[in-house]
Parts: sequence; C-alpha cells; structure tokens
Amino acid sequence: MQEFDHDLFVIGGGSGGVRAARMAAQRGARVALAEAGALGGTCVNVGCIPKKLYSYAAHYAEAFEEAAGFGWDLTPPRFDWARLKANRALEIRRLNGVYEQLLRSAGVTLVQGWAELAGPHTVRVNGQSFTARHVLVATGGQPQVPDLEGREHVITSDDIFDLEPFPARLVVVGGGYIACEFASIFNGLGARVTQLYRGEQILRGFDDDVRAFVSAEMVKTGVDQRLKTDVQSVARTPSGLRVTLLDGQVLEADAVLYATGRSPKIRGLGLEAAGVALSQGGAIQVNDGYQTSVPSIYALGDVTARIQLTPVALGEAMVLVDHLFGSGQRKLGYDFIPTAVFTHPNIGTVGYTEAEARARFGQVTVFKSEFRPLKHTMSGSSERSHMKLVVDTASDRVVGLHMVGADAGEIVQGFAVAMKAGATKAVFDATVGIHPTAAEEFVTMRTPVSTPA
Ligand code: FAD
Ligand code: NDP
Repeated sequence: MQEFDHDLFVIGGGSGGVRAARMAAQRGARVALAEAGALGGTCVNVGCIPKKLYSYAAHYAEAFEEAAGFGWDLTPPRFDWARLKANRALEIRRLNGVYEQLLRSAGVTLVQGWAELAGPHTVRVNGQSFTARHVLVATGGQPQVPDLEGREHVITSDDIFDLEPFPARLVVVGGGYIACEFASIFNGLGARVTQLYRGEQILRGFDDDVRAFVSAEMVKTGVDQRLKTDVQSVARTPSGLRVTLLDGQVLEADAVLYATGRSPKIRGLGLEAAGVALSQGGAIQVNDGYQTSVPSIYALGDVTARIQLTPVALGEAMVLVDHLFGSGQRKLGYDFIPTAVFTHPNIGTVGYTEAEARARFGQVTVFKSEFRPLKHTMSGSSERSHMKLVVDTASDRVVGLHMVGADAGEIVQGFAVAMKAGATKAVFDATVGIHPTAAEEFVTMRTPVSTPA
C-alpha cells in the first residue's frame, strides 16, 4: 500500500476545515491543515462573530432610548467607533488563538500559507509538498460584486469591520442576509443608511409575511429602504461618493457596501489540474459523502455553495470525519435547518415558508400572531413582533415556524428540535407556555388565519 505523510490534509482553516481536522486527529488520524489567512475563517474573522458583536453594539442605541420609560435617566450616550473596532479585534485575536490551541492540542500539524492541489494525494504549500490519503478542500467563499462603473470605490463585508472613518452616510446594495444585517447594524450605530434592492421585497426565499414585516420594521427604525432599484455607477467626488441609480436618482455616501452574494473560493487551488469537477456556478461538485470527482479529494462548506451557514459546514465536517475515520453512521439532514438573520428586530426561521408548504403539502393551516412585546408597552418603542406557524393539514405536523422579534434566533433554536422530531400542532397545543415571554405565543396560537383550501 502507498505510504502517505498524512491520513488527511485539510485546505482551509475555517468553520468546516478546523472541525474536520480536529475531529480526525482526535480519532487518531495523522492530520495537517493549511490556512492562508487567519484561523477560524470567514465566520470568526469577517463573518458571524464580528457581525454579531457589532449587532450587540447597535442594539445599545435602542436600549438607551427605551431606558427612560423604565425610570432611567442617562447623559446623552456617545458612540466610539474606534473603541468598538479595537475591542472586536482583540476578541477575534483571542479566538484565533483558541482555534490554534485546539488544533495543536489535538495533534494537527499547522501549515501557514496558500495551498494548492498537485495531484489526487498531493498538496503544495510554500513550495513544499505534502502527501495524504485523503484531501479535504474547505476553502469557503468570497464576496461577489457585479461589474459596474466605479466598482473600485465600493466595499464588501470583508472591509466593513475596520472601515475608517465611520461611514456617516452608508449605501448598502442587496437584499439578502448580509445587506439586511449591516443596514440594521449601521443604522443602529448612528449612520444614515440607504438600502437598495433590485427586487420587489428584501430577503427572497424567506416567508412572504416575514419579508414584509421585517422590511416595515427596518424602515420604522430609520433604514431608507428602496426596492426595485439598482446602481448604475459610483463615482468619487470631493465630498464622498456619488451613487447614481438606474432611474437617474443620485445619492451621496461615505461608503457603498455591496452585499450581493458570495462565490466559492476556488481560484489558484489547482482544481482543474487535479481533475476536480466544478458546477456551472463554479462550486466544487460533491456526492452525498462530500466526495469530489477525484475519489481521494473531498469538499464541504461554502466552497460547495449549498447552504452557506457555519453550523452546516460543521455538520458536514463531522459526517465526513465519521465516514473516513469512524463508524460511518453519522448523517446530516438538510431539512429543517434553522437560521437567523440578525436584523433589528431579528428573524428566526425553521422549515417551510407558507408558499413552499402549500406547493409541497397541498393543504396547510396557518396561524399568525402580531403583537407589541410587553417591554415596549413602557419603553416607548413602536417595535412589534410577528410569529407564524405553518401546519401540514393532513398530518398535523408543524412544517414551518417563523418569527420576527427580539432574540428570534434564540427562540427558534429550541423549536427547531421539536420540528426536527416531527412535532404536530397538537403537541404544540399540549405544551405549557412560559409566561410572560414572547415565545409562549408559539404554543398558544389556536385560531387559524386561513382554512385549508
Ligand atoms: P470559511 O469559514 O470561509 O473558511 C475557509 C478558509 O479557507 C479561510 O480561512 C480561507 O482563508 C482559507 N483558504 C481559502 N483558500 C485557501 C488556500 N488555497 N490555502 C489555504 N487556505 C485557504 N453563518 C452563520 O451560520 N451565522 C451567521 O451569523 C453568519 N454570518 C455571516 C456574516 C458574514 C458577513 C458572512 C460573510 C458570512 C456569515 N455566515 C454566517 C456564513 C459563514 O461564515 C460561512 O458559512 C462559514 O464560514 C463557511 O465555513 P467554511 O469552512 O466553508 O469556509
Ligand atoms: P444572499 O444570497 O443572501 O443575498 C444576495 C443579495 O444580493 C440578494 O438580495 C440578491 O438579489 C442580491 N444580488 C445578487 N446579485 C446582484 C446583482 N448583480 N445586482 C444587485 N443585487 C444583486 O448573499 P449575502 O451576500 O447576503 O450572504 C451570503 C450568504 O452568507 C448567505 O446566503 C448566508 O447563507 C450566509 N450568511 C448568513 C448569515 C446568518 O446566518 N445570519 C449572515 C450573513 C451571511 P436577488 O434576491 O434578487 O437574487
């Protein structure tokens, strides 16, 4: 049998790569991992974590305003962008260290540098060749900006965390996760935010009620959301950036954030030479076992452009490692994957939208609730919450659960367990609520808004 330097060589030290390397090493495999940038990848360095930290920062603005109704008098608060950036950088550096420590203590060999495939079992980093029985490509993705006049003046989510100076006037282009989250965050931090989206309503793919509700809430908080519009050009002027829209309108901005999707990071990896097949969109094609067209080479996470979420990359990594070095029993179901969008207020969702459920199950029963949260009866805030259940009428199974409101992600995570277990509406009804919470609404909705067609 051919001898290899390693059992597994992982390219990319992000969510999926780190989890795979660590788990494989813990199972006794000889593992090396190459990372060209900082350990932790997108999520830790320029994604989930710094984004959530900035979202916390932005929420203080409303908390200060709301405090008065509860008896607190505050001196006018002042926001220090430089301090937020510095504290975030410190925390991210700490996390980079934690990741390094986790890998080293599991026995993973760390290689700093850009890795390239040089054959089915060979990876080259910094001119050095490594051989491995299995190679895992977990190189993630990168922001994608369409061609436009003045493209060189716009920034992406990779640049926004350290932007200098604070963008007092921010234009955000896109209507997906990143555009909506950063529109909310910078609005909360005090910027004047204009969000431009080419379609009829933001957050395509989410439940229509959720889309309309969160859009209205974002507008209430101050985001100038303009739908059915797009950018023609961006030009630099002495007073900032001039953004010309397709309809001829002109906006002045200090920064223009393009959040128009992410593409798989495949360039310079040597995939073609190694014979790894790509999809039309440039993602690495894999089978159900994350194996590419080259049997010894695997791929997972964002580079396969399926569901671009950290817990999915982690789940895929654990399945793959179990398959390569364990019992092979582990599976990842792609249905009922919960997700949150950290807009203000948050969205939490799991399962099918009402439209998807109607298409899939035929008859569905829908329950909805919109209300003013208890806190805001005294806070003075006009923020409202929205909750929705979609039930497959024939089986009584709850197949969609959607929420817009404070801590929606935290709330929906728990319900996702019940949904995964196949909970019916009868089970929801038999569950005692926790009072007074917003979440109890999910177990007390009794009157459907629409009867089955
Ligand atoms: P990545 O985490 O991107 O890791 C890939 C790594 O590979 C990188 O470190 C890169 O430097 C390295 N690399 C690439 N090519 C090479 C090479 N040739 N040699 C060596 N190293 C290489 N998901 C959530 O679940 N929740 C969130 O709240 C959330 N927020 C997000 C916010 C933003 C702004 C963004 C951009 C993404 C967010 N995501 C979120 C998505 C999440 O970050 C990704 O789904 C996740 O990081 C994918 O993990 P991965 O392992 O596939 O790739
Ligand atoms: P999304 O795919 O979510 O959204 C892209 C947006 O850009 C859509 O509104 C899309 O419009 C629009 N768009 C695409 N191309 C163009 C174009 N050429 N001109 C104008 N608009 C365009 O991507 P994001 O970049 O927001 O995020 C990437 C992924 O990262 C997400 O899908 C998600 O999986 C992950 N993520 C997860 C987060 C979380 O879990 N909270 C947070 C942030 C990111 P249209 O709808 O019309 O196609």
